[in-house]
Amino acid sequence: MTSNDVAALGPRLPSPVRELTDERFERRGVRLLLKRDDLIHPALVGNKWRKLAPNLTAAAGRTVLTFGGAWSNHLRATAAAGRLLGLSTVGVVRGHELAGRPLNDSLARCAADGMRLHFTDRSAYRRKTEPEILTALMAAAGAPEAYVVPEGGSNAAAVRGCRALGQELDGYADVVAVACGTGGTLAGLAAGLGAGQRALGVPVLKGGFLDGDVRRLQERAFGGPRGTWSLDDRFHFGGYARVPDELDAFAADFERRHGLPVERLYVAKTLYALLTLTEEGAFPRGTTLAAVITGRPFPEPAFPEHRFPEHP
Ligand SMILES: *Cc1c(COP(=O)(O)O)cnc(C)c1O
Repeated sequence: MTSNDVAALGPRLPSPVRELTDERFERRGVRLLLKRDDLIHPALVGNKWRKLAPNLTAAAGRTVLTFGGAWSNHLRATAAAGRLLGLSTVGVVRGHELAGRPLNDSLARCAADGMRLHFTDRSAYRRKTEPEILTALMAAAGAPEAYVVPEGGSNAAAVRGCRALGQELDGYADVVAVACGTGGTLAGLAAGLGAGQRALGVPVLKGGFLDGDVRRLQERAFGGPRGTWSLDDRFHFGGYARVPDELDAFAADFERRHGLPVERLYVAKTLYALLTLTEEGAFPRGTTLAAVITGRPFPEPAFPEHRFPEHP
């Protein structure tokens, strides 16, 4: 298989949209839909499919080099794509101190999928978009000619790929909520929504820098601002990968109520934000909300798959 066969991986697109029955939303006269991007592909999960597919085509068989932290969903998706498409992949991992230590489950999965891992110190990692640093990193990783995908996968091609997410939701919901890491998914989603729809981004990192990032991503992908979107910075729960007990309990309760595996780092924060806003009266009665289920828990929950059938 070559890199031009991305479509042959059989993505489930458009991804399913399912309505939930949840009394906490019903009480406020609000409908809640789930946009099940987690069901697009078993290995290239969620928004990672939408962002990677155009880049894998653009790579045209070259080695794909990309970046991530030790638990990066993006690195795992890229590694899986490499295995499925017969592409070689290199993951530049933040944290030189991880070299020579046993790999965590996420990096072990990357390695098992054939990704070559190159650990780098945090200062070089931070400066990886500077041309000389990038060139040096590529050389050090043994892939000077690689097709480079930025951290989190959010380049212009990826943002344009995420426009389809919005287009698939045209006519379904008034407000579409999505978790934001780099903001690439939000930038594309907003561009794809129809008139009268708006996107709500829920940043999972602390810092409040995302507004400018999303603007810049839209500028690069589309040449200017697109669609209606906003951010609510109140739901990062302390920052990236922070999952305090309150959030974990909320997610576990949501799983019990709805039989949906709730990924904690992004999806749980999105659902929590939507419930909080609903209870604050932010949405008039008659509003339809959609939550983008951008991913699945990793490692997969220990209980059998049949506990979590596709939502009916
Ligand atoms: C990567 C990821 C996101 C963030 O996407 P961005 O485009 O970087 O904002 C959201 N949810 C999940 C589950 C992810 O893995």
